[in-house]
Amino acid sequence: MNRKKFIKTTALAVGGAFISSNAFGLPKFYSEKTAFELPQLPYSYDALNPFIDKVTMEIHHSKHHQGYVNKLNIALEVITAKITSLEYILRNISDYSTALRNNAGGHYNHSLFWTILTPKKNSNPSEKLLAEIIRQFGSLENLKKLITKAASNRFGSGWAWLSVDADENLFVSSTPNQDNPLMNIVERQGRPILGIDVWEHAYYLKYNNKRGDYLSAIWNIIDWVEVSNRYENYLLK
Ligand code: MN
Repeated sequence: MNRKKFIKTTALAVGGAFISSNAFGLPKFYSEKTAFELPQLPYSYDALNPFIDKVTMEIHHSKHHQGYVNKLNIALEVITAKITSLEYILRNISDYSTALRNNAGGHYNHSLFWTILTPKKNSNPSEKLLAEIIRQFGSLENLKKLITKAASNRFGSGWAWLSVDADENLFVSSTPNQDNPLMNIVERQGRPILGIDVWEHAYYLKYNNKRGDYLSAIWNIIDWVEVSNRYENYLLK
């Protein structure tokens, strides 16, 4: 599956997916076809070796991410309001249940995560993104340090992010659990263009409790081409 198709699948909208009632007078999710689906990985489970091992990738994708998708679809069954997209849910997350917050977040975050990792090493940010990184953070190395620090300091489970805010500034942040910068409950809102999963399930089999070693390794497989595309596409909107 190519990347474009992958993103399209991930962004599956559920607009118009609800009909008003079933035999019990309860809201009903229209059909399986309109439910969210687990996106395929754009590479094989062992492609990110030795930085992320095959078993971690397989469990992370086929069990954890699948679990978020399943629970997201269950949580959506009780929603009657018109929902146009996953992003709509996230931007208005304060209106919804904790189950939806955790699982819509979990689905969005992992779908992003798989695309910004790559088996192709040594990718570089585009000229435009690099210029902005240098303007705001001094250097790419310094930005990596800031993201690593945000990821290291996240107590318990969560994510570290590089995002773009409404004024088109980049910023680094961290969120707990499956929250993300799109949600209208975070300190600073923006569109994430890079996210690092620091739940133990992302690294424990290979790195045990050494989150720092996982964070050092992951820079080898960050897809700066994809991160740059996300940045430049955002600027066009
Ligand atoms: Mn995860």
